[in-house]
Amino acid sequence: MVRDLSADLKACAINTATLGFQAPIKEVVEAVARAGFGALAPWRREVEGGDVPAIAKQIRDAGLKVSGYCRSTYIPANTRDGFRSNVESNKRAIMDAAVLGADTFVMVVGGLPLHSKDIAGARQQVKDATAELLRHGKELGVRLSLEPLHPVYAAERSCLTLTAEALDWCDEIEGGTLDPWLGVCLDVYHTWWDPNVLSSIARAGAARRIFNFHVCDWLVPTEDVLNDRGMMGDGVIDVKALRAAVEAAGYRSHVEAEIFSVRNWWTRAIDETLSITRERFATAT
Ligand code: ZN
Repeated sequence: MVRDLSADLKACAINTATLGFQAPIKEVVEAVARAGFGALAPWRREVEGGDVPAIAKQIRDAGLKVSGYCRSTYIPANTRDGFRSNVESNKRAIMDAAVLGADTFVMVVGGLPLHSKDIAGARQQVKDATAELLRHGKELGVRLSLEPLHPVYAAERSCLTLTAEALDWCDEIEGGTLDPWLGVCLDVYHTWWDPNVLSSIARAGAARRIFNFHVCDWLVPTEDVLNDRGMMGDGVIDVKALRAAVEAAGYRSHVEAEIFSVRNWWTRAIDETLSITRERFATAT
């Protein structure tokens, strides 16, 4: 059975990027709780350098969960020192994720190092780093969630583009397990076009590796593939079908709205965006 999100707002999460980073995290937490959502996913830019335990307490006291902590430092580098520095930065972020009580640390893994043409090498660096970060995450009680991105980002943001490939990496790094600490973050923006998306979702669910599910929409025309995402229902993605597939595969955690939208949603008042998001969770997700 697909969950009825109109009756289960606590199953819905707000990725704070949806609100355009217009207000300090304290105000964002208050607004998300006031609107009735069950969770939020903050970004490091809102947390690092702040009083992380105090932020964690405010989130808990507001009755909210942390569906994910966004996101990893890009891993591939041209030098060993650069690679180590990226891994260490991620270890520090995973510590903050633990303090926040985050369900997962979301990993956007990075593309090619500057001037490199070695995408296979970039992928190997990511796998090596993920194995090390997985040990670190387990010690701290934080699960790692690999987010494959749409291939248009392969050079600059993520050499990991396919859900099936992300699952191959999970198997390779962690092996078969009934209690995985390494899984995937499935974002409709990055996965909807994939002809194998449904079989990959089924595979991920059977392996208990669906850790996060992100929703938004793909606008036509799209003015900017990074910051022109649409609200669910405004574009061409069959969001309902993908959510049904994810839930049929056993996913029962948060459905998280993540909408990068410079020209539209980021120009609106936070409470207005939250109110319309709530409505679209019910009608178009
Ligand atoms: Zn996402």
